[in-house]
Amino acid sequence: GRRAVSGTRRVVSGTRRAGTARRDDDRIAALLARMTTEEKLGQLQQLSWAFATGPGNPDNKKVAAAARAGRLGSVLNMFGAKDSNRLQRIAVEESRLGIPLVFGLDVIHGCLTTFPIPLAQAASFDPAVSGRDAEVSAQEARSNGVHWTFSPMMDVTHEPRWGRIAESCGEDPYLTAQFAAAKVRGYQGEDAGGLASADRLAACAKHFAAYGGAEGGRDYNTVDVSESRLRNLYLPPFQAALDAGAVTVMAAFNTVSGVPAHGNAHTLTEILKEQWEFDGVVVSDWNGVHELVAHGFAADAADAAQLALNAGLDMEMVSSTLADHGIQLLKEGRIPEERLDDAVTRILRLKSDLGLFDQPYVTESQAVAAPSRRSRAAARAAAARSMVLLKNDENTLPLDKAAAGIAVVGPFADSADLLGTWTFPRAQEKFRSGKVLDAVRAAAGGAEVTYARGVDPDGEDTSGIDEAVAAAEAAEVTIVVVGEPPSISGEAAVRSDIGLPGAQERLIAAVADTGKPFVVVLVNGRPLTVGGWLDRAPAVLEAWHPGIEAGHAIADVLFGAVNPGGKLPVSFPRSVGQIPVHYNHESTGRPYAADNKYTSKYLDLPPGPQFPFGHGLSYTAFAVGEPRLSTTVIAADALRGGDTVEVAVDVRNTGKRAGDEVVQLYVHDLAASIAQPVRRLRGFRRVTLEPGKSRTVRFRLGAQDLGFWTNAPDGELRLEPGPVDVYAGNSSTTRTKSTLTIG
Ligand code: BGC
Repeated sequence: GRRAVSGTRRVVSGTRRAGTARRDDDRIAALLARMTTEEKLGQLQQLSWAFATGPGNPDNKKVAAAARAGRLGSVLNMFGAKDSNRLQRIAVEESRLGIPLVFGLDVIHGCLTTFPIPLAQAASFDPAVSGRDAEVSAQEARSNGVHWTFSPMMDVTHEPRWGRIAESCGEDPYLTAQFAAAKVRGYQGEDAGGLASADRLAACAKHFAAYGGAEGGRDYNTVDVSESRLRNLYLPPFQAALDAGAVTVMAAFNTVSGVPAHGNAHTLTEILKEQWEFDGVVVSDWNGVHELVAHGFAADAADAAQLALNAGLDMEMVSSTLADHGIQLLKEGRIPEERLDDAVTRILRLKSDLGLFDQPYVTESQAVAAPSRRSRAAARAAAARSMVLLKNDENTLPLDKAAAGIAVVGPFADSADLLGTWTFPRAQEKFRSGKVLDAVRAAAGGAEVTYARGVDPDGEDTSGIDEAVAAAEAAEVTIVVVGEPPSISGEAAVRSDIGLPGAQERLIAAVADTGKPFVVVLVNGRPLTVGGWLDRAPAVLEAWHPGIEAGHAIADVLFGAVNPGGKLPVSFPRSVGQIPVHYNHESTGRPYAADNKYTSKYLDLPPGPQFPFGHGLSYTAFAVGEPRLSTTVIAADALRGGDTVEVAVDVRNTGKRAGDEVVQLYVHDLAASIAQPVRRLRGFRRVTLEPGKSRTVRFRLGAQDLGFWTNAPDGELRLEPGPVDVYAGNSSTTRTKSTLTIG
């Protein structure tokens, strides 16, 4: 019965967005006409280069042989100007048609210069942070022979157990969309023509789709999602990335309502290629086509190839089901020639856009070899801008440089391993992260700084705690640096318990027992449950995995050179049992009420998360006013025609230092044909204000902001009449609102 799924849908002929017609269409068509079927299937194949070993490695020899035979379109994990040129020369000079290879790499949050993890970047609520990362990364990677990055990852998720939350922008589709667009523009430049320049990368919007919905947060797990949730929660960042010009999309490992994403004609063809008119390349994830067999969806490798290609997949990463079985499938009429030609055309167009037909090589003398001073400065600013002050009783922070002794304790205080997930194993000092201890020593000026590790990042050995306690007792203030090693964050790094690993909580408790002031600095890749020790810690700074400038950036914030202004892009649950807990949930018919048992609540927990989405403190204080609407009634037709409502919000620095506040705008549609989340972020702006100063921030709400998708498969955004609450504030829990009526 499943055969129906594999039947070819309307073949997409490469519909274009207005204004992006490319000059090279004729050249591509002419090339396609000269290609044998083997060569066409070859373009669909991407193989991995074992970059640690070099060209002598037997697997790498196979890659080179495939390139020579014209049986290879792309290579991933190639890095280095010389090595990439050498392999490219084989494709260009020794294969029959001389079609250049396109080299892809996971440049996720930095290449040589590691920026903070994407989740941290999202906490900056400043997409320009991601834009700068992407520009620096593009320059470093492209000069080393990389053309294409498998980034940005834009999987919205409500699962802190999932290790890949570190690569995401957290729980909100709007926030994720803004960062996705900024990253795409940073990699690719503003227009498609820019892709050919020596400092640009092709971007890849991934993972399509709904990978963040994996049940239980277990990686690669099942996702069963309604059409409305798919479109309202998971898809908006992809639309934003494509609007920003992203030229490739990667399929997700998970199923989407029973159908694996790699064989999913609804998502890959109906939505992506037909409704959204995407004319770029859909690449599989690692081995993802072959895994259709393990999913119990394809009978064998040939079936997998058929299902994936017919569903709309264009390039196969690592597995070779299409290369191995394509000829046979064509002969048997199981895959149409037009679909193959369409996939090849898309891949050749990507190469053409990257300028590879004209300039397949990189200039070896121009390869960036190490992070520059400028890129380090950008990474330092980005990291400091990403930190979130979770708690700060009695102005424990910022620290006084003239303190009579500072103790720095904890397993990450003297660690150079704070880069986070998705960084390449590079032993050399110049690529590792700066240490907190060194930076505190440098920043503290006169104060004496002592250090004790206390405990390991994991393991139950508490024998070092006494030394840490002694250091804390002798100091005026103690900095406790605790968190997660990057190895337990990222892909295939799922945790069932998201507290501090090992004996770290006991270290905090022992320092608290001294009765002296201390601050906790968290370095981690996901929300943590911080319940046990939170009440005892006077101040908590969420630093995430901050990247190469970890030490300096943390010291900048601890000593007040930078006033923290980040906000949580994801809720911090009180306990694992509370997951999923997120601000953008729907209401039940029995929403939480303190005085009624028969409501949606846990008997043993207070309502809501430990820290909500949008939360973050500052060393100064702000007052955010109510949202003032330019009109309180607007017709749905006017919105459809492009009209918007202006929302003005005043924000004032009521404290004593300059600082940043993120003004946040949320909406809630009170009665809709698809019950709406209790809040939806629809605007945010991070502003810097001197003490006593105020500013009016202006937002615009249009059809995209007020509309939503239903379960209809047509992809139409609905705008329904009725009242919509518009909230303004400095966290998702704000109650300050005005009401707009859609007429
Ligand atoms: C990940 C992708 C990544 C790919 C290539 C996969 O395991 O899911 O995000 O781009 O590997 O390294």
